[in-house]
Amino acid sequence: MNDCIFCKIIAGDIPSAKVYEDESVYAFRDINPQAPVHVLVVPKEHISCANEITAENSGAVAKIFEAIPKIAAAEGLSNGYRVINCCGEDGGQTVFHLHFHILGGKKLSESF
Ligand code: 5GP
Ligand code: ZN
Repeated sequence: MNDCIFCKIIAGDIPSAKVYEDESVYAFRDINPQAPVHVLVVPKEHISCANEITAENSGAVAKIFEAIPKIAAAEGLSNGYRVINCCGEDGGQTVFHLHFHILGGKKLSESF
């Protein structure tokens, strides 16, 4: 957990471009944006991936989805956006701290 890059970003040990924060959620701009708006939304609690969501920690995920419309509005995504979670190797997950990508600011491709 000490090696987790997103835990370090949440703690402020690694700089990030913060766009939103509350008691359980942190959101910041992706360092390698795939769309005009590309924000990562993470729980402050370390949860490694979607497979680790349980009845005990799912409240943090609910808080993320409460925050997403606020972030989207603040980013001007009034015409819509996409939320993506990558889980595990086949899902293309590269950072093993649960995160949701918000992508928007243009008409996104329908293919994955
Ligand atoms: P994944 O592929 O795991 O779903 O997404 C990880 C995302 O984290 C990638 O889009 C990558 O660009 C982003 N990322 C990796 N390291 C950093 C970092 O140090 N800072 C920021 N802001 N984003 C990062
Ligand atoms: Zn972490």
